[in-house]
Amino acid sequence: PLTSNDAIEEHRICVCVRARPLNKKELSVKDLDVITIPSKDVVMVHEPKQKVDLTRFLENQTFRFDYAFDKSSTNEMVYRFTAQPLVETIFERGMATCFAYGQTGSGKTHTMGGDFSGKNQDCSKGIYALSARDVFLMLKKPVYKKLDLQVFATFFEIYSGKVFDLLNRKAKLRVLEDGKQQVQVVGLQEREVKCTEEVLKLIEMGNSCRTSGQTSANAHSSRSHAVFQIILRRRGKMHGKFSLIDLAGNERGADTSSADRQTRLEGAEINKSLLALKECIRALGRNKPHTPFRASKLTQVLRDSFIGENSRTCMIATISPGMASCENTLNTLRYANRVK
Ligand code: ADP
Ligand code: MG
Repeated sequence: PLTSNDAIEEHRICVCVRARPLNKKELSVKDLDVITIPSKDVVMVHEPKQKVDLTRFLENQTFRFDYAFDKSSTNEMVYRFTAQPLVETIFERGMATCFAYGQTGSGKTHTMGGDFSGKNQDCSKGIYALSARDVFLMLKKPVYKKLDLQVFATFFEIYSGKVFDLLNRKAKLRVLEDGKQQVQVVGLQEREVKCTEEVLKLIEMGNSCRTSGQTSANAHSSRSHAVFQIILRRRGKMHGKFSLIDLAGNERGADTSSADRQTRLEGAEINKSLLALKECIRALGRNKPHTPFRASKLTQVLRDSFIGENSRTCMIATISPGMASCENTLNTLRYANRVK
């Protein structure tokens, strides 16, 4: 039977999964699809449909989420069921977060829309941009227009437990917690934006800053969390905040046994933050008085988003369809399953 806690949870937390199509690289090595999404909220991991000599037995597993999006889904469709309802939350003085969680290469950045590496230069159809578009549409509604709200954006990344401002040449920032447990990222650039195009420019700028000096864009982004925020202010005071997060690749948490010390430390930090994130979301869903936000830098800077009456969150777990990724895919699905 449903309890009142379930009702809160239902309302506050949405967990969904998105599978991408097999890519060229996977097709070229004849990797096989092991994911089926038979209905709008079910994901199945199974043996490939083609007859192959399996080196090991792949047990069929079924998971249920709020929504499951298959390889034919578009960003616009994913957006409509995940981040779009949260845009309303921030107009109603709430705090919203939307996370993309998954293995490197599974489609987190494609979904959030911050990819300016290589040939993929279009961020206008990602969830960052679609959210910004709707924020400016909502502002035109008479009920919100009369509030005289201003819109600001921030963009930063958390790498190995340190915060870097992507709108200010990767300046390293300090995180302070005052006596009232308010968390502040000191000196974080908050840019006022008047239209979607201005937001796109900031995303573009932040993305180029994110990967600058890196030999491989993905090598770097797989180790850091990128946080893009849209903040509504009324007469200078915070009205609502939407944090959109492209998380570090969850397979990096396994790097804790790497021979390289730096890699090991990064892996441990990523592990810690993804575990802390899960616990904070669970606490929010269960309306617990105590949220363990101090357990990692990521959860610490998002503290005010996990606390309060009107906080809502959405997790988009992205998965690769190939048999070669099956281990990581199952880890992702298990994690997503435990968030709620
Ligand atoms: P991640 O950020 O999780 O490491 P990316 O978003 O960079 O992964 O995706 C890896 C590659 O797969 C990119 O080339 C991206 O364009 C492609 N891709 C990801 N998701 C999809 C999708 N749903 N449909 C088509 N291509 C996708
Ligand atoms: Mg990425």
